[in-house]
Amino acid sequence: MPELPEAETLVRGLRPVLTGRRIVQARIHHADVLRVPARRFRDRVRQRRITAVERRAKNVVLRLDDGILVVNLGMTGWLAPFGLRAEDPPRPTHPAVTFRLDRGRLVFDDVRRFGCVEALDIDVWRDRDAAFGPEPLEEGFTWQVLAQRLTTSRSPIRSWLLDQRRVAGVGNIYACEACYRAGVHPRRPARSLSESEARGLHAGIRDVLAGAVAAGGTTIRNYRDAGGDPGEFVRQLAVYGREGEPCPRCKTDVERVVFGNRSAFFCPRCQPEPDS
Ligand SMILES: [Zn+2]
Repeated sequence: MPELPEAETLVRGLRPVLTGRRIVQARIHHADVLRVPARRFRDRVRQRRITAVERRAKNVVLRLDDGILVVNLGMTGWLAPFGLRAEDPPRPTHPAVTFRLDRGRLVFDDVRRFGCVEALDIDVWRDRDAAFGPEPLEEGFTWQVLAQRLTTSRSPIRSWLLDQRRVAGVGNIYACEACYRAGVHPRRPARSLSESEARGLHAGIRDVLAGAVAAGGTTIRNYRDAGGDPGEFVRQLAVYGREGEPCPRCKTDVERVVFGNRSAFFCPRCQPEPDS
């Protein structure tokens, strides 16, 4: 499932080819990825110019000369540019929306269709943007900011990290990897972390996300970048999806535990179980 590094990789591929382009028309193949009737959506984006391509949390954000186009990639969403790069990516298999541009086109492809494309007024987007937690790779996200936010919650730290209002852009893969790097069991209550553990978690979050961005993201199943290539970070995952494999640090078998409806992967030796 695309998280911050995957959305960031996609944005970096799209920014140079989409900035300045004009949306001539949107064609809706599957209206269930919209939140408004297809006709209203089409009217909202027709003849709008794309002025900037950004990321916020796990979303791809296209700033328009009037309004904002927000794409949530869901589980399998992909934005594929055609006629815009030296080489086109492979043809999308499940196109949901096609934006015809003044040059080329942009296809929102989504196999499972848990993704979402919305055209919003700028003030609606501002409110939504403000509800997200801090961007973990930005300078303002210091270990003190994290430590302070942790003190108010009893949630298991893995679940805490998944809450987009607490920290933006972290999903299950990177939450598990950050806990591993910090030596913190994924079930530890957020507020039980010591100051040095909070520092370790802060470093873990930043390092794993920055490493994943550098590797072009993680592809478990479907994720592709703007050129259609998978992310390479999967090889650097220490615990996620590695139940029964040796911990890279101590060689103990990695374990999996399910809570909050999601699997968490951890090393029982490097990340001791909380007392309960
Ligand atoms: Zn270990």
